[in-house]
Amino acid sequence: MTVSDELVLIIEDNDKNLKLVRDVLQINGFRTLEAVDAESGIELADDRHPDVILMDIQLPGMDGTEALAHLRSQPRTADIPVVAVTAFAMAGDAERFKAAGFDGYITKPISVREFPDQVRGVLTGSQQGR
Ligand code: MN
Repeated sequence: MTVSDELVLIIEDNDKNLKLVRDVLQINGFRTLEAVDAESGIELADDRHPDVILMDIQLPGMDGTEALAHLRSQPRTADIPVVAVTAFAMAGDAERFKAAGFDGYITKPISVREFPDQVRGVLTGSQQGR
C-alpha cells in the first residue's frame, strides 16, 4: 500500500457519505478537508489550495457543476483537479461530467477497496498533464 500525504477537499452534504470518504482517505494516508456545501467548499479551496477536490453533485444551494465552473473561473483554484463523486449512474453521465470539465468521475456508493487508487489515479493523471 502506497502512503499518500496529499490534501483532499471533500465537498459532500450527506453525513454518512462524508464520514466514509474521509475515513477511507485518512486510513490510506491522505489529509482531508471537509465542506458540506459548495459555497464553503469554494472558500476552503481558495484558502488551502488542496491537491484534489472530491465534489458531490447534488448539494444544497449551488450544485457541484456550478461549483466547478466557479472554481475554474478563479485563478487561485482554476488548476485544482476536481472529481465528481455522485450517485448519478445513467448512460452518458461520464461524458456529461467530462464535458463539464471534471477531471474524473467516481460513482457512489464508493468501493472502499478501489477508492484510494481512484483518487491517486486522478492526482497522477493531472500531474502528467502539466
Ligand atoms: Mn448530496
